[in-house]
Amino acid sequence: MPEGPSHRDRVLIIGNGMAGQRLVEALLVRPTPPSQITVVGAERVPAYNRILLSPLLAGELDHAALTLRDADWYTEQGVELILGDRVERIERQARQVITASGRRLDYDRLVLATGSRPAMPPVPGIDLQGVHGFRDLEDAATLTECAQGGGSAVVIGGGLLGLEAAEGLRKRGMAVSVLQRASRLMNRQLDATAAGLLEAELASRGLTVITDARLAAVEDDGHGRVAAVHLEDGRRLVTDCVVVAAGITPNAELGHDAELDSDRAILVDAHLTTSDPAIHALGECCQFEQHTYGLVEPIWRQVEVLAAHLAGEAVGGYVEQPSATKLKISGVSLYAFGPTEAAPEHDVLSYHDPERGDYRRLLLRDGRLEGVVLYGDTRIGPWAFEQALAGSDLNACRQALLFGPADVQALLDAAAEDADRAADSAHLQRPVEEAA
Ligand SMILES: Cc1cc2nc3c(=O)[nH]c(=O)nc-3n(C[C@H](O)[C@H](O)[C@H](O)COP(=O)(O)OP(=O)(O)OC[C@H]3O[C@@H](n4cnc5c(N)ncnc54)[C@H](O)[C@@H]3O)c2cc1C
Repeated sequence: MPEGPSHRDRVLIIGNGMAGQRLVEALLVRPTPPSQITVVGAERVPAYNRILLSPLLAGELDHAALTLRDADWYTEQGVELILGDRVERIERQARQVITASGRRLDYDRLVLATGSRPAMPPVPGIDLQGVHGFRDLEDAATLTECAQGGGSAVVIGGGLLGLEAAEGLRKRGMAVSVLQRASRLMNRQLDATAAGLLEAELASRGLTVITDARLAAVEDDGHGRVAAVHLEDGRRLVTDCVVVAAGITPNAELGHDAELDSDRAILVDAHLTTSDPAIHALGECCQFEQHTYGLVEPIWRQVEVLAAHLAGEAVGGYVEQPSATKLKISGVSLYAFGPTEAAPEHDVLSYHDPERGDYRRLLLRDGRLEGVVLYGDTRIGPWAFEQALAGSDLNACRQALLFGPADVQALLDAAAEDADRAADSAHLQRPVEEAA
């Protein structure tokens, strides 16, 4: 077996989720795809668009809208797809994996794409019936069923996922309370003003938001079902259902048990290779330097690097970049990236029109954008993100930055014309200066 991958290698992918499925697509379009691709997934259905579970729960989309590829597509592409079977062990010496149903599958190159699961707070009662995560189609179906009887729900976590789950359940007719540990919603993405606007909007729809709320215990109704949640400050909230959306735990156990180097997740280098050169990991189960993942954008870039690498192509390594955040709650427009708090060396530009619910705050360091929070009108978000990634010097158009590319471009053009004129006049003056 050569050190580097070759396109003759048989590739076995564990996990038919967002990363595993995208890797299959990326491998198939290489000029020299692997000789054999096998995918084993624990879920019973082929990979679907997990991101759309939120609009599915809110009743805004139906099931079919989540489909990425059906099982026939895998067959047509010559990809072996094994569903509803969980890989339980990796035997590195034999280059085999063993599944829950007893299958033994060979590999030359193994890819771990096992994602993550909801992190459950270690409080009494967290295992009771009626306490759910929000991660897959089964969770979405269970939550939809819970909401059918109306009643009340408590969502633990006021981040992206918690708010999307809360709004979905509210739209289905439940009375929903969101418990947020921090002093504001989405504290990792939003500053206090934007978080306040978001909270006011959600409250106006009927959601109850409780900040600085620390979960102490989930109360049993005497029959193994949830009856209420208790907060550390002594409050008790009666509820029919609890949704935990308070962070994720990478599914790194397979790698850990196989003695691959791991930390918070399975450690990989810039080619997504683990400490075993025949084993790779990507997506939410991997850790690159100090980074673990929870959004798809960096995972798509990992997929491209790993697909090229597995196809035996020379490829530059994966490079960490910031990611932007959007919230998928209809009627709420929000876009953010970068630090939420201004550092002393930041220039802060902000605009707030409370009447129209429009708020924009930009953080610049030496004329370069580092952080953006937009609430209301978010149209300049993707443009601002591009400028930040490119490290563009925006000093010449500071006064227009809050209003987007059209005004900015006019100022940049004017600045470029001024610079040209200055260069021309310096050129014209040179003989005079030289003569002097
Ligand atoms: C409700 C919801 C909304 C989201 N919204 C957004 C969003 O708006 N924007 C965004 O960027 N991201 C969003 N995300 C996050 C995004 O879905 C994840 O970042 C992405 O799915 C990660 O891909 P992955 O392949 O690493 O993990 P997953 O998609 O979770 O796939 C992992 C797969 O591996 C399987 N598996 C695990 N262990 C084994 C095993 N031992 N054997 C076989 N199979 C196994 C799992 O069952 C799963 O099917 C959202 C997530 C959720 C749950």
